Amino acid sequence: MKKGKLFIISGPSGTGKGTICKKLLETEPNLRLSVSVTTRAPRQGEVDGREYHFISAERYLQLLEEGGLLEHASVYGAAMYGTPREPVIDWLQQGMDVILEIDVQGAFQVRENYPDCVLIFILPPSMEELEHRILGRGSETAETMAARLGEAQREIDLSERYDYRVVNEDLEQAVAEVRQIMNDERTEGGL
Ligand code: 5GP
Repeated sequence: MKKGKLFIISGPSGTGKGTICKKLLETEPNLRLSVSVTTRAPRQGEVDGREYHFISAERYLQLLEEGGLLEHASVYGAAMYGTPREPVIDWLQQGMDVILEIDVQGAFQVRENYPDCVLIFILPPSMEELEHRILGRGSETAETMAARLGEAQREIDLSERYDYRVVNEDLEQAVAEVRQIMNDERTEGGL
């Protein structure tokens, strides 16, 4: 059986990549989204097992030691994130396409091991607009806000090494662009 294709979607938080992924999942029955583990606390409205598996630092380190993470990264200094290996590998073997919604450090780690994966970066229309969107969430202190914006700029700089960059100015258009990229890449063959 043909194996699935692995897509990595990154972009500064607040750029809308989560919404884009959700929309793609609604229309692509063969697509699965990997749920990461994280040591950060849930935000309001986030559900354990849906946005993330929220785990302790001890459990995270245990998973890491066991080789249970496909990639991992420490984001904004404190919180740690990782992609559970098993579900992703199983889905790909079963012929399903998989999205990892992860940061640039993680994306480059995955590309080392799976050079066939496709890296897509979602850009905000501008830094001003990004700041505006993150503030709108109301979950940031001045300190974490500054850290997020600094990280966003670093990620945008590194995104030149991605296969594709999509600007999310208009949501529907950005979704259509990513869907087109996926269709084109799929016809080129799975992992
Ligand atoms: P947030 O805390 O806003 O949900 O996510 C912060 C950043 O961590 C985002 O850039 C997000 O893509 C990234 N991230 C989420 N899960 C993972 C993961 O499993 N691995 C890596 N490397 N980054 C992740």
